[in-house]
This record gives sequence, structure tokens and C-alpha cells, in this order.
Amino acid sequence: MKFNTKTIHGGQEHDPAFGSVMPPIYQTSTYAQSTPGGHKGYEYSRTHNPTRNALEKSFASIENGKYGLAFGSGLAAIDAVIKLLKPGDEVVSTNDLYGGTYRLFTKIYEDFGIKFHFIGMESASKMESYINNNTKLIWVETPTNPMMNVIDIVSVSEIAKKHDILLAVDNTFATPYLQQPLELGADIVMHSATKYLGGHSDVVMGALVVKDDQLAERLYFIQNASGAVCGPQDSFLVLRGIKTLHVRMQRHCENGRAVAEYLNNHPKIEKVYWPGFKSHPNHNVAKTQMKDFGGMVSFTTKGNNYEEAIRIVENLKVFTLAESLGGVESLAGHPASMTHASIPKEEREKSGVVDSLIRLSVGIEDEDDLINDLKQAIG
Ligand SMILES: *Cc1c(COP(=O)(O)O)cnc(C)c1O
Repeated sequence: MKFNTKTIHGGQEHDPAFGSVMPPIYQTSTYAQSTPGGHKGYEYSRTHNPTRNALEKSFASIENGKYGLAFGSGLAAIDAVIKLLKPGDEVVSTNDLYGGTYRLFTKIYEDFGIKFHFIGMESASKMESYINNNTKLIWVETPTNPMMNVIDIVSVSEIAKKHDILLAVDNTFATPYLQQPLELGADIVMHSATKYLGGHSDVVMGALVVKDDQLAERLYFIQNASGAVCGPQDSFLVLRGIKTLHVRMQRHCENGRAVAEYLNNHPKIEKVYWPGFKSHPNHNVAKTQMKDFGGMVSFTTKGNNYEEAIRIVENLKVFTLAESLGGVESLAGHPASMTHASIPKEEREKSGVVDSLIRLSVGIEDEDDLINDLKQAIG
């Protein structure tokens, strides 16, 4: 089955009770038993729920994995992966990382005796100097947020395999439409399904997908034992979202390209961060490992003026000023005052998050309306 069919049918069966084409929302915590242990595969909804299971099969199918797991948020999914580790273990991670992931690693798990190294992953040899016998996990996010750096998953996976280390990839920005990390050598794919998989800014959810039987068993144990699962209503919404993932992504990419090119030619714009430009430092890696370049675009204005950036995001009318990304509607954010406000100025500027940086999640509205909106807001 090809990707554009898997989004709709992958892992799905019509409901056996009445043949409903969409799985019903099984809004139940428990399941009747005829005799103790006499049940139909479902006992308690933290452990299993038919609507969630349908979604988990869809996750596995679209990421070319064998097992999918759904969680109450993206961070709950990441939390489950870190629970594979023990005190003394070390993790090598992307430095330009989603802020919530960084907070979970440093503010929660460092206290449990896990050591994290945050490094630029553009050079494989540099990465190896951070690996030792305690290294158990490599955590990669690509493209990164908000600087749109691209990391070569195949090269990282070769290092992971050589040292027998698990490789997890946060695939939230790319989605499996653009990039399939398990095919590129990763062991675990993670998503904030809140973003493109759900696609409609109406649900918070996380996902993991793996191929290996034993790894899946350990993660299912953690999912049930820690209990950060999502509910059946949310499972239904994300399952519905995934059915249009391929058509939405196609339009996100087209509009993302149009917006990136418009900004690149604008006299007031200093720099546009979008991996589709030949001048992007990781363009060739992006071209090889991704099918297209996505709908996330960041830019800075000439003079790097904080107030001007605020004025632009306030003036936007079709783009909504909001955190998050990946929905059908276009959003704009100002990292220095929003998502990255808690990071000291000198720290954030080292990774490129300067005062005038604006991040766009380009939606699937008409391209002309998006460009006219940017035109009037930038002036
Ligand atoms: C949003 C996001 C997360 C966290 O997911 P939640 O669903 O908000 O918990 C993790 N990684 C990336 C890249 C994200 O954009």
C-alpha cells in the first residue's frame, strides 16, 4: 500500500459490530467479562481501548513501523522513551531542540541521574566524542525548531548502530509524508500528534512508532504502567486528521515554498530559514531524506529590531499570533518573546533566536491571501 492510501486505510478495519466505516468512539473505561478473565481482548481502557488501538495501528502504518503507541501529549510520549533508561545512563541530543523536550530532559530527568549532552549534529565525528559506554540513547529532532536545521538521519543511525545505541527521531515537523525515520535507520519515531497528524489545532496528543518486538513490549509496559494515555474522543479526532495528512502536507509544502520565496525577495527581510533554498547549509541532506520541504518558515528583518517584529506579528490578519504549528490555519510566533522567552538572550542568540526572528506555520489557505497578509504586515 502506498503512503496516500495508508493514511486512509492503513491498519484499519470496519467495525465488526455494525460495519461502521469509522471506528466508533468507545467512550468506556471498562469491559464486561463473562467469567473472570473471560473478555474480548479488552479489560480496562488505560491498557487498551478499541478507538485508541485503531489510531495506534494507523500510526504504525504511516511510519512504516510495526507497533504504534498513543499518549496524552507529545511530551508524554518522550517521557515514555526516557523511562527506558536508568540512573547513570547518558543521552546525546540535538542542541536546537523543542523547548518542552529540553525542559523535560534538564529539569526532570537530570535529577533522576540521567546525563544529557546537547550538541550540533551536523558533523558525525564530533558526535562520536560524546559517546561512551553509558550512552544509551541518541535523540534527534529534524528539521529543528525554529532555525530549520536539518540533521542527516542515516549518518547518525550509522553511529548509533556501531555503538549499539537506540536512536529516536522527533518527526513532528516533517511528518511521515516528508520523512520516514525508521526507513533511515531510527529505532523509535516520536510525534507531537497535536501538530500535523491531528492537523486541526483541536487536540493535544503524542505518538511513538517502533519496529522491534522487544522494544515495543517495553514501551507498552511503560505506557500502561505510567498511564499517560489519550482518550477515545481524541483518538478519533487524530485518526480523522491522518486521513487527509497527504493532501494537507502537499498544500503546506506549496504554500511554504511560496511564502519562503516571497520573503526572500522582500527588501526589508534579512534572512529566511527554509531548507528548500539551495543556500540552506543542509539543503542537500534535506533533499535526500525529505520528499519536500514542509510548511515551516522562519525569518528575520533587517536591523534586527524587537519592536518591529512585534508590530509585524500584531498586524497579521490571516496568520494568527499563537504558539503551536501544523494546523490547517496559518500561525505566526515570535520566539524571543514567546516559546524561547525563558532562555537568556545571549544563550538563545547563540542558536540564532534573535529579537527579530519570526516563525511561521504556513497553513493551507489560498497562497495569495497569505502573501498579501505578509505584505501589509511587513509594510
Ligand atoms: C509540540 C512539540 C512537542 C511537544 O508535544 P506536545 O504535544 O505539545 O506535548 C515535541 N516536539 C516538537 C518538535 C513539537 O513541536
